[in-house]
Amino acid sequence: MADNETGKTCPKCGSLYDEKAVRDALNTCPGCDWHYRMEPRERIAYLADKGSFLEFSGNLSSLNPIDLSGYEEKLSAAEVKAQMKDAVITGTCTIEGKPLILGVMSFQFMGGSMGSVVGEKVCRALLKGAEEKKPVLIYTTSGGARMQEGIFSLLQMAKTSSAAAELSKAGVPYFIMLCDPTTGGVTASFAMLADVIMAEPGALIGFAGPRVIEGTIRESLPDGFQRAEFQLEKGFVDVIVKRNEQRQIISSLIDLHRSKA
Ligand SMILES: [Zn+2]
Repeated sequence: MADNETGKTCPKCGSLYDEKAVRDALNTCPGCDWHYRMEPRERIAYLADKGSFLEFSGNLSSLNPIDLSGYEEKLSAAEVKAQMKDAVITGTCTIEGKPLILGVMSFQFMGGSMGSVVGEKVCRALLKGAEEKKPVLIYTTSGGARMQEGIFSLLQMAKTSSAAAELSKAGVPYFIMLCDPTTGGVTASFAMLADVIMAEPGALIGFAGPRVIEGTIRESLPDGFQRAEFQLEKGFVDVIVKRNEQRQIISSLIDLHRSKA
């Protein structure tokens, strides 16, 4: 995106809008509906009923399990940049008065990578949902596993997947909103295990990125490869939901699943 003093130039349609108009449209282009990335606090402010969000596990922060040089410094810098202790915020809230466990990932925090803290917080959110019989919704955005934590990052795939299975066993609905971009270990674990898999328009969703795939198969990929619309057509995504409709749709999904229970 190109920014200047007067506003933002949309990367899709090229129109210039002032920052406030874009913010008022929930970080989308007022002209063509392009969805900019959005950070957790802004999402929570829009989604949750006013004042209802109560964060849990907010004090967890990463150690340096494989003693990688420079990792602590990277974590500190990410904490300042994203104003979070790691790449996901989890809490309880209500949406139109209905209780929900909500997790929202941040791409600003080390590319939304999943290390031991992201895995643990997602796990706790899923298990809390199972225990308290509250639906769980997670907004994902991730570049994949946190390389700086080596094997401990990869373990989070199994850990979060088994927590998702517990939620399913408890008969509690699980919802995912795939946001731009959701890739790597997050796609390969808890992001694809929900009962309803939603995506934001235009979001890149995949395991390996298009450049890696192109390099491997030595073929050029079709237009829109791995975008939400492509993944909907291929069956990886159940529905694409525009940002200004998400609150309403999520509220309806909670109702729908409750009445079936
Ligand atoms: Zn636009």
